Amino acid sequence: MSNPPLGEPSRPVQAASVLLARARGSTALFVAMRSLSLRFLGGFLAFPGGKVHSADRELATASPGVSPQHIAAVRELFEETGILLARDEAGDYPQAEKLIAPRSELLAEQIAFDHLLSKHQWRLRADDLTWAGSLTTPPFSPIRFDTAFFTAILPEGQNAEVWPGELTDGAWRDAEDVLTSWKTGDLLVSPPTVALLQALGGQPIEQLPRRFPHGTHPPIWFSPGVQMIPLRCDGLPPSTHTNAYVVGEDTAYLLDPGATDVGEQEALFASLEGRRLAGVVLTHHHPDHIGSAAVVAERYGVPIFAHPLTAQALRGRIDVNRFLDDGDCLDLGETPDGRSRWRLQAIHTPGHASGHLVFWDAYYRLLFAGDMVSMLSSVLIPPPPEGDLAIYLDSLRRMQTLPARLLLPAHGSPSARPAFVLERALAHRREREEQLLQALTSEPRAVADLAVELYRGLPEPLMRFADMQVRAGLHKLQREGRAVAVDAERWKLPAGF
Ligand SMILES: [Zn+2]
Repeated sequence: MSNPPLGEPSRPVQAASVLLARARGSTALFVAMRSLSLRFLGGFLAFPGGKVHSADRELATASPGVSPQHIAAVRELFEETGILLARDEAGDYPQAEKLIAPRSELLAEQIAFDHLLSKHQWRLRADDLTWAGSLTTPPFSPIRFDTAFFTAILPEGQNAEVWPGELTDGAWRDAEDVLTSWKTGDLLVSPPTVALLQALGGQPIEQLPRRFPHGTHPPIWFSPGVQMIPLRCDGLPPSTHTNAYVVGEDTAYLLDPGATDVGEQEALFASLEGRRLAGVVLTHHHPDHIGSAAVVAERYGVPIFAHPLTAQALRGRIDVNRFLDDGDCLDLGETPDGRSRWRLQAIHTPGHASGHLVFWDAYYRLLFAGDMVSMLSSVLIPPPPEGDLAIYLDSLRRMQTLPARLLLPAHGSPSARPAFVLERALAHRREREEQLLQALTSEPRAVADLAVELYRGLPEPLMRFADMQVRAGLHKLQREGRAVAVDAERWKLPAGF
């Protein structure tokens, strides 16, 4: 596969979030589950917060000492939990019973936040929130936030309560207990929340060290002992990055280090600082998955693991030292919560590439999906012999049989809805197949014409990939007796269809 020009990462949107403590000196913080249907970190535990609106910026210009992110933090906290960090004329916090109706009106968009404040003569005070740091979603994600994190104390006379919507199941939780539940696999916690809780180290929020000045990227932990390292790679658009994963603690394997760029490789080495690698593991042979494999193997003196068919495809370019076949396991030693026999099992999933492997962690129920699904677009299935659509669909169905809790793809953000993601991929292929059948006639039609019809609006440089998808679809139909090849370029429906 050739390398189209690198795409541009999306620009981060300003946002704000609040670490709300139950009382001064308390380590109990208010946390909530993000609804599974949210595109950004749905199904993960997080602190309340959200985007800065343009009205927040307008209000900030009229409020001395208060930033737009401060206003967004107060507004989002009020909408999501009912806590209002504002003062009445006497300088006191409004009491809980006075907040129910205004919150309902705000959520129903019957009143704007600035009008709500002025109607009740509530004022924002700069010292009700303390800025604790800013985190920016790394450029791998199509949805990115530049989030200011604030700390605050629950005002006396108010109660935090989530009304189901974007958040569900809000609760006061001890910060260390959250990390413990995360480590045992009982709870999915958003990576910025994990980073903040780790920085807090069991201390009350007043002690939170300002470790996150603007632009810092703490390590991304989507699951305990699993560090995601997105690296800029020459993949197929819209992908700009390939996610490498370091899986394991004392014995760790690096999955799919794809970068060829020296700067990105330096960033990878920096992320691996202090880690003890046992090997490099490749899901398949495509260039955006293997770019750093040889340099990492050499630098750390570790072998490269892959399926024999991947080794064959890479012959002369990369030496694969150890074969992994369906069912083979990599031993990871102890889990982060001290259980033994933590393992990563290879599952052969051909279709996108003949030697493609996905990896299954049965303890945390993690499915490392490689290129079997992408969170950014559909996956390219080349026609035989390299790819095979029918086999790809069988591989997807096999992945569906695993009781996965988190799907970690090579492109885009991990998903807490593996079953949904896999079913969506299958449904997409059914839809494309239906379109292809509709486009075929009893008269021969050229592959190029079918591709133009099915992939209307696709940018010209990508049309050759559309061409490959159509060929893959036609080969599947041919095997099922539902399409006939007249010659290499022209296809028609079989007689009687
Ligand atoms: Zn691939």
